[in-house]
Amino acid sequence: MKAELILIVEDEQIIIDFLTASLGQYYEIISNTHGIEAIETIKVRKPNLILLDLGLPDIDGLSVLKEIRTFSDVPIIIVSARHMETEKVQAFESGADDYVTKPFGNNELLARIRRTLRSRKNYISEFKLQDLYINFQKRIITRGGKRIKLTPIEFDIVEYLSKNAGKVLLHDQIIHQIWGFGGDKQILRVNMANIRRKLEVNPADPVYILTEVGVGYRMADEGDFRH
Ligand code: CA
Repeated sequence: MKAELILIVEDEQIIIDFLTASLGQYYEIISNTHGIEAIETIKVRKPNLILLDLGLPDIDGLSVLKEIRTFSDVPIIIVSARHMETEKVQAFESGADDYVTKPFGNNELLARIRRTLRSRKNYISEFKLQDLYINFQKRIITRGGKRIKLTPIEFDIVEYLSKNAGKVLLHDQIIHQIWGFGGDKQILRVNMANIRRKLEVNPADPVYILTEVGVGYRMADEGDFRH
C-alpha cells in the first residue's frame, strides 16, 4: 500500500498516462477526465492531493476548484496550459496551493508535489505513541520523558513516518521524500539502524518503527499495541 493518494483531473489521456507513469512510483494514482465526476471522487476517495487541469470538457477547472473548497481543504496543484496571469491569481484566490504551467518537467512537478504535501502536514504539531513523544515544531523526541538525540536527517525520517503512522511507506518513497534524487536504499538502511538504536528499547525487536520486509517501513499506531 502506498501512503498518499493523488487524483489527476485531466481530459487528455496522454497526459494522464504520462503522469501516472512518472508519479506512480511514489504515489497511488487515480484520475478523472471530467470536473463533475472528480468532485464525486474527492468526496468518496478523499485523496491527499489533487492535480487539477483548468481546461476540462464539462465545467471550468476554476469552478471545480471553488466547489472543492466548499467541502475540503485537500491540497490542490493547478496544472494549466494557459499562461494568463489573471487566471493564476484567480486560482490562488480560489484556494489553489500551487500552479504549474504545461509543459513542465517531471522533476519539477515531483518537487512541487513533495513541497505541497510537506507544508500541509506542518499543521500537525505533535505525535504520541505509548512512551514516545515527538514535538515537530521544536524537533524534540522523548521516550519515557527522556530526550532522544537524532541527527536532522534521522529526525526528518521519523517525522515523515510518524505523520503517516499506520501506513507502510515504501523505501523509494522515503528516499524521495528525504533526499529527493540523491538518496539510495543503503543510506536509508544505515539511518534506520541508527534511529532504532536510539529510539527503541530493543533495536533488534522494534515496536515503534516496523519493517515491512522487502517493501518499506511503517510507524506503528495504537492499534499495534492492543493485543
Ligand atoms: Ca485540458
